[in-house]
Amino acid sequence: MSTELNITELKNWGLPNSDKPIVISGPCSAETEEQVLETARQLKKIGVTIYRAGIWKPRTKPGSFEGVGSKGLKWLKKVKTETGMLVSTEVANVKHVYEALRSGIDIIWIGARTSANPFAMQEIADALEGVDIPVLIKNPVNPDVDLWEGAVQRIYKAGIRKIGVIHRGFSSYEHSIYRNIPQWQLAIDIKRRLPNIVMINDPSHIGGKRELIQPISQKAMDLNFDGLMIESHIDPDNAWSDAKQQITPETLNIMLESIVIRDVSPDNASLDTLENLRHKIDKIDDELMDLLQQRMKVSVNIGNYKKENNMTILQQGRWSSLLQNHKNKGRKRDLSEDFISKVYKAIHQESINKQTEVMNA
Ligand code: PEP
Ligand code: MN
Repeated sequence: MSTELNITELKNWGLPNSDKPIVISGPCSAETEEQVLETARQLKKIGVTIYRAGIWKPRTKPGSFEGVGSKGLKWLKKVKTETGMLVSTEVANVKHVYEALRSGIDIIWIGARTSANPFAMQEIADALEGVDIPVLIKNPVNPDVDLWEGAVQRIYKAGIRKIGVIHRGFSSYEHSIYRNIPQWQLAIDIKRRLPNIVMINDPSHIGGKRELIQPISQKAMDLNFDGLMIESHIDPDNAWSDAKQQITPETLNIMLESIVIRDVSPDNASLDTLENLRHKIDKIDDELMDLLQQRMKVSVNIGNYKKENNMTILQQGRWSSLLQNHKNKGRKRDLSEDFISKVYKAIHQESINKQTEVMNA
């Protein structure tokens, strides 16, 4: 699909309130009718208009709480009639889609494990054929923007036009302060590929702990995201899933008030760029590092040659002309003599160290 997708802009989604950020909140999981309704009442009080609750939960290992299942849909229906909020839940297969639609779910989202699976995505897309409902697609667990974009394309091909993506971070084997590493440049990339796409940030699943929700949300706002999906619970410590990352509606309110919403361009535009530029720098630094490694390998070979041929390491004439040469080349590239001289003296010194090691081996 090479032509641009004609995704409906957020302001035309018909939401009760499309001011930025749109906030979607509610528990990780629906647990009991009372917990679902009481959380909703408290959220309504602080002005949240879109409620979330997981009914079918994709858990890492079997045996843990896997969601209350279909009966939770009735509780969400009650949230709708009692509070007037829109309600949303996660779907992962055809059965979930049909049941959610039948129960009047207003917005569905697709989880990170499902968006990573093209078969599941296609099955869900087919089940949504002819339905006009907003669909939010979480990034796949692995950092693959093509896979994420492909999931959006499948839903689009089914005729859905109100499509959003949820950036929930990417899993990694490496230890990190995050539960799922944000890799912001991937979110920026999906936005670049799909210009009208609605961008939601999920600081709860990125951070995995309460204290990270505020700074991640602020960062998302600085990057011009449209909204936030944040897990909330009336009794977070005793939540049946994701207890460490849930906050009370009251804390959510304080957190949201602390967020600074900066004007759209030019500030946010420049921040988008800053993120991109930093990404570029990181790549160039990696290349520099590889080149330095290659250069030092050659130095080791030179060391061996000099050793075999009984030559001194420092060849003063060669070094002086080399340095002069680099300074001239640097000048043509707008790199100061002083800078080039420092860089090459450091490289030359490291090269001598390597050769000395070889000589003394
Ligand atoms: C969730 O939103 O509760 C959830 C399971 O999220 P994710 O798909 O991002 O892991
Ligand atoms: Mn969760």
